[in-house]
Amino acid sequence: MKQFIADAMLGKLTRWMRVMGCDVEYFPEISDRALSDRAKCGSRIILTRDTRLVLQKINRDNAFLVIGDHCPDQLRQVVDAFAIEPFRDLLTRCLRCNMPLVSIAKNDLAGKVPPYVFETQDRFETCPQCRKIYWKATHVEQMVARLQNILGASRMPERPA
Ligand SMILES: [Zn+2]
Repeated sequence: MKQFIADAMLGKLTRWMRVMGCDVEYFPEISDRALSDRAKCGSRIILTRDTRLVLQKINRDNAFLVIGDHCPDQLRQVVDAFAIEPFRDLLTRCLRCNMPLVSIAKNDLAGKVPPYVFETQDRFETCPQCRKIYWKATHVEQMVARLQNILGASRMPERPA
């Protein structure tokens, strides 16, 4: 799967791409030069709103110009351009750190998640970097519904077996 680095103007897009499980680095304060270097070193595609950046020689082969100021338009654009399967790797990555989540045993979580969540959920995952604990809940359903809404009803998530 392709890896990306987004420019500072694309924080919202980054978050939604991470919801879909895409590997997207994002640094709100990064300079153009550092962005280009990181992209080159890590073989990442630069997602940018900046035409000037796309035209620079160093970025010529690996920059993608994102058109439009609104996140839903931007999201549709990258999903189409890079043939991203929006629901295949849904919520497999930390939305804050971009790290792939790892499963964590329920037994280790007593007292670390709200009692109701502990009672009603069986599967938990955690981010190896920030240690945030993730579980499926109503906000996840809302996120999926929002994604469907943005991307069009033709793209339905596969029903879990
Ligand atoms: Zn994290």
